[in-house]
Amino acid sequence: MTLDRRDFLRALSIAGAGTALAASEVAPAGALQRPPKPVSPEAIGLLYDSTQCVGCKACVASCKRANDMPPDITADQRAWNEGTWDTAKGLSGNTLNVIKVYRDGSMEQKDRETDGFAFIKRQCLHCVDPSCVSCCPVSAMTKDPETGIVSHDPDRCIGCRYCVFACPFQVPVYQYDRAFGKIQKCQLCKHRLAEGEIPACAESCPTGATLFGRITDLRAEAHRRLELQPGDTYAYPSGELGGDRGDAYAPTEKTVRVSYLPEVYGEHVLGGTQALYLAAVPFEKLGLPHGNVPDYAYAAQTEGVQHLLYKGMIAPGAVLAGLVLLARRNFGKHHHEAEED
Ligand code: SF4
Ligand code: SF4
Ligand code: SF4
Repeated sequence: MTLDRRDFLRALSIAGAGTALAASEVAPAGALQRPPKPVSPEAIGLLYDSTQCVGCKACVASCKRANDMPPDITADQRAWNEGTWDTAKGLSGNTLNVIKVYRDGSMEQKDRETDGFAFIKRQCLHCVDPSCVSCCPVSAMTKDPETGIVSHDPDRCIGCRYCVFACPFQVPVYQYDRAFGKIQKCQLCKHRLAEGEIPACAESCPTGATLFGRITDLRAEAHRRLELQPGDTYAYPSGELGGDRGDAYAPTEKTVRVSYLPEVYGEHVLGGTQALYLAAVPFEKLGLPHGNVPDYAYAAQTEGVQHLLYKGMIAPGAVLAGLVLLARRNFGKHHHEAEED
């Protein structure tokens, strides 16, 4: 029997599970090993409103351009489009941002759960208390204390892929198809921010479905929308919220078509995220962990055990196993719901 690199790492995680489960006697299930981390007052992020998304994928194309990523052309699409179009089906080593679609029955109406369809944008959620940062044994994954951007440093990374397995949103991807692959994930276009530009996905979105801004502003905007009723008129902003780019992003008045679910996804789930979501179709149907996930980060549950294990010179794979078990238990139930467009 041969093991490829992915199998080897999975085996390593499972081997560590015994130790992690033993550690659970030190940390009873659900007990926090340290206080949850707060969101920085200067934190920035994205607000994605599924009801405003038209599935044009301008954000996918601009993300590729801004991050110099090659197209993803799946085998079944290669013959059809002669390899000329990007046809990414999910996040990959070449794709940091993707739009997926939920479909049900006759798909007659957008943003309806039954006989309807809806879009969902997938990229790194820049968790307030990220598992990927917590599990990285060499601090190649870091979270900026002010902006909250979660970054990956390929020069520090040893390729262990712990972050891939520990992320509860299944975001980081290792470039398995390359001899010297790297971990890839959205870094909130920090290179563009350094040049005074906003993230490419927010800049290119023609409807304002993807907005960039400070978390405090984005949360306030999201809660204003939760008050809206079908038939109301609302001035939907686009591009940057509360920024200084003025008229370039003048709001557009639109009639509200559907009722929002009464929740801003990302405000509390798994300790909070800096990518926030609004939708009219249940979040779990859109492939986001929801309902049976806690309001605290898995890292807050495992990190105390992690430090104990590190002191005892036990491999960090044991900690990874704990994070993997927690993350997969919930995400696995949902991630088949939203399929590729
Ligand atoms: S979504 Fe995953 S990769 Fe992104 S910050 Fe959270 S744990 Fe890390
Ligand atoms: S912030 Fe930048 S890297 Fe992240 S999804 Fe948007 S365009 Fe892509
Ligand atoms: S650019 Fe905006 S409307 Fe188009 S797919 Fe992306 S989020 Fe949706």
